[in-house]
Amino acid sequence: MNLILLGPPGAGKGTQSERLMDAYDLVQLSTGEMLRQETKLKSKLGDEAKVLMDAGKLVPDDLIIAMISGRIDDTKGAGVILDGFPRTTAQAEVLDQMLVDKGMQLDRVIQIEIPEPEVIARLTGRFSCAKCGTGYHEVFNKPKVAEICDKCGSKEFVRRSDDNVETARSRLRAYHEQTAPILPYYEAAGRLSTVDGMGGVDQVFARIKEIVEGA
Ligand SMILES: [Zn+2]
Repeated sequence: MNLILLGPPGAGKGTQSERLMDAYDLVQLSTGEMLRQETKLKSKLGDEAKVLMDAGKLVPDDLIIAMISGRIDDTKGAGVILDGFPRTTAQAEVLDQMLVDKGMQLDRVIQIEIPEPEVIARLTGRFSCAKCGTGYHEVFNKPKVAEICDKCGSKEFVRRSDDNVETARSRLRAYHEQTAPILPYYEAAGRLSTVDGMGGVDQVFARIKEIVEGA
């Protein structure tokens, strides 16, 4: 099974990806992570990408596709969750072709949806323990004892300086701009499913599971 999981910042995409990986033995392929690793390993593709990035140029689609293709071969039959790719209809088409060439297909594109005010509420009000880094939220995930870290007992917390409504709105806008080009493509192909992202992690995962198992 091969999936793309989409969701605005704060929608719990990271957590749900982890659940999916555990439940269905999937491997996550993040383009950003892949590029960093390939350049670090100084692979042929990594070197090519580095030259371009150092020159301030975009890494072309075929290079990214070649990296994804190599990774898929490495997974030896495990399914993948793609992260950060595709971003355009052209990339979505190339991806489809590459998968077809391998006798595979992209089974579902799952979009986790939460209303804008909820996104803003989730993205603001985050703070973390200054000592161990454990993350909290003023409303959704408070420490068990007020102002004391659950994990290490520290009483010092830090807040990100960009944790405000304006930044939250602009992150949400960026998400819509990134996904807008590919949603119609997958919708027309009947592969797009939208999941209600409100509720607890288990509840949302149950909804995703239903889609995945019906795919
Ligand atoms: Zn702590």
